[in-house]
Amino acid sequence: MDGAKGRGAGKRRARPGDDKMPFRRRMQRRKVCRFCSERIPIDYKDVRLLGNFITERGKLIPNRITGNCARHQRELTTAVKRARNVALLPFSSTTV
Ligand SMILES: [Zn+2]
Repeated sequence: MDGAKGRGAGKRRARPGDDKMPFRRRMQRRKVCRFCSERIPIDYKDVRLLGNFITERGKLIPNRITGNCARHQRELTTAVKRARNVALLPFSSTTV
């Protein structure tokens, strides 16, 4: 009742779940945008290229994993969607 929530025991912070990613470098080995570095043009007909950026189930891999820059990730997304529309890539493949 008497407002004990605000100033209760101030040293009670022994929660183990408080550390989000204590090690900042886990598996981060210099991701660089492949399209920027290698000057690869993004083509929706290039299924082999686009296939590197979708999962087995046909989902797009986010750029925080692939390391693409925002611009190329956007172009890649457009290319994948375009490729899906012309049936070069699946919308979803639930073979698992
Ligand atoms: Zn790029």
